[in-house]
Amino acid sequence: MSLTKRILIAMAAGLGVGILLNIVMQQGLLDATVTGWLDEFIVVGVFDAVGRIFVASLKLLVVPLVFVSLVCGASSLGGNSRMGAMAAKTLALYVMTTAIAISIALLLGNLVRPGDGIGLGEASSFAAKTAPSLKDVIVNIFPSNPIQAMAEGNMLQVIVFSLLMGIAIAQSGESGSRVKVWFEDMNDIVMKMVGILMELAPYGVFCLLAKLFAGLGAGAILDLSLYFSTVVLALLLHCFGVYGMILKTLTRIDPLAFFRHLRPLMMFAFSTSSSNATLPITLRTAEEKLGVDNRVASFTVPLGATINMDGTAIMQGVATAFIAQAYQVDIGLSGYLMVVLTATLASVGTAGVPGVGLITLAMVLQQVNLPVEGIALIIGVDRLLDMMRTAVNVSGDSMVTLTVAKSEGLWDEATFKATPPQADR
Ligand code: ASP
Repeated sequence: MSLTKRILIAMAAGLGVGILLNIVMQQGLLDATVTGWLDEFIVVGVFDAVGRIFVASLKLLVVPLVFVSLVCGASSLGGNSRMGAMAAKTLALYVMTTAIAISIALLLGNLVRPGDGIGLGEASSFAAKTAPSLKDVIVNIFPSNPIQAMAEGNMLQVIVFSLLMGIAIAQSGESGSRVKVWFEDMNDIVMKMVGILMELAPYGVFCLLAKLFAGLGAGAILDLSLYFSTVVLALLLHCFGVYGMILKTLTRIDPLAFFRHLRPLMMFAFSTSSSNATLPITLRTAEEKLGVDNRVASFTVPLGATINMDGTAIMQGVATAFIAQAYQVDIGLSGYLMVVLTATLASVGTAGVPGVGLITLAMVLQQVNLPVEGIALIIGVDRLLDMMRTAVNVSGDSMVTLTVAKSEGLWDEATFKATPPQADR
């Protein structure tokens, strides 16, 4: 059975078991001791442990993979003058797609108006963390200590260090080419590690979903169904509509084939809710399934996982409209333009870990003087939306990666067109 199928079955089973456990435990259908045992031993015990081990083992590979792979990529590009053009194209596409994402979200948020008539009574409190200033964000890109950058998993700093090292290797003649071979061998080995861990994915995915749904109340979703479905609609429109259109017009690549290749990746992102933890899979998918050359993917993928979050921006757009409506505040056109700007910047400055979108939402709300406590209104369904928007986040990274590779002539059509068995794994 292909990995895609196995993960899909694991997802469905995790969902089913989680919901079943939730009903059994909430309704008190079983004896209290049995319920307690189920909760303590199975849900908080086994499911939580296996799920966390799975996410940890993915995260384990992020820093080695980005470092080794980007050094390889940059050393192959070397002094090639295309590097600047490639970086500029990538950044432009990342920013442009994020701005489109928020615009769609704001438009839908104002058409559907999910926040009208929401009781504000339940808006208790939400302690917003302060977001870093733009200056800090920029200064922080440059590492003073590469080991610290790696230990803290500071992806932008690791990217800067790896780029520098790769370029230096390319310019170091004999010694450079010796070290380059080592990095290329290491790259193969780390990629193999990713492959091994992917085989374990079905178990991890099952446990993550079962644990999550066992504790998730369906009530919150019903209460916020209009907000929830507006976000989901915007996510679908952006992912399949906008990405599909960009691919079709800029690259003439078949979007359906692209999304077929992306299925397991999207499931990984959905289950882990973290573009960072999914990064090894995104890179592997880009190179081995989409046919993107390592010189492009090793740069665009880690960068995208860190700064490109279209799904998050969509949630923030709808949430801002929702909160403005709930508090009956009209932020006007200039307010909405401000939201487009700040949410785009916010998605640049935050890391791809679960729930980070809510923190940056506070920053967006503050910019347009909306009450940050409004976040308490939507927090109940955020966990589930986090999963869906993370899937869109990594799809956006992959779409831009493919587009840039095609335009740079660093795309291997044969790999993209190769059908399973190997390609769909
Ligand atoms: N979980 C998202 C990601 O890692 C970020 C967020 O929206 O909270 O991409």
